[in-house]
Amino acid sequence: MSEKLELTGMVLSALPMGEYDKRLVILTKERGKISGFAKGARRQNSPLLAAAKPFSFGVFECYEGRSSYNIYQAQISNYFEKLSLDLDTVYLGMYFLEFADYYTREGNDEQQMLTLLYAALRALENPKLDKRLTRYVYELRAMVINGEYPEVFCCTACGSTENLQAFSQEKNGVLCADCAAENPAEPILGSTLYTLQYVMSAPIERLFAFRVTDEVLGEFIHIQERFRKKYIERKFKTLETGLL
Ligand SMILES: [Zn+2]
Repeated sequence: MSEKLELTGMVLSALPMGEYDKRLVILTKERGKISGFAKGARRQNSPLLAAAKPFSFGVFECYEGRSSYNIYQAQISNYFEKLSLDLDTVYLGMYFLEFADYYTREGNDEQQMLTLLYAALRALENPKLDKRLTRYVYELRAMVINGEYPEVFCCTACGSTENLQAFSQEKNGVLCADCAAENPAEPILGSTLYTLQYVMSAPIERLFAFRVTDEVLGEFIHIQERFRKKYIERKFKTLETGLL
């Protein structure tokens, strides 16, 4: 008899299996990303009917099987229902889940990714925050957590911390004025540089609560789009829809 477990986490995806069941992928605090079988989750009287859906966050009760977990009950504390109020928002939310799925593994410590995902979805639900900014902040920070990031605190060519004025995709970071004259690079606004520094280092709880001008947002998006494409070859299904 395997032992009962309580795992805290968020459903990343839910696939129908057979007539009444579901296969869930859950990002958990305790075990990293797990795959779980939710027997009978599509039956009208199932205790898992509402829980076995993407975005559901809470405590999942399960048994550990040989190759997967058997989930039999859940206490959901947040369904992120406001995300489904409009199509753009729910697609962005699905993209966040897919991005988290790409970067996480079973058995890894994925607490930071879970905390980041939760905070990013909360920010998406907040009508006062710019959804495009939320998206690129989430992307960059997720990449930082997984060890992929540009150098934004000093010149990536000479190490100087002064006169940082340009960004080089090739050298993967900022350049000082002297080095920018000798390397292909694009000028970067001081506020954009500060935004990159903030996104890479601020505590996750405060990560999404800031605003930028359209100009800074444009530069940030430009840099992050190219950065993501350079380091992640995978095509995300949610991006392929062309809706984002
Ligand atoms: Zn330099």
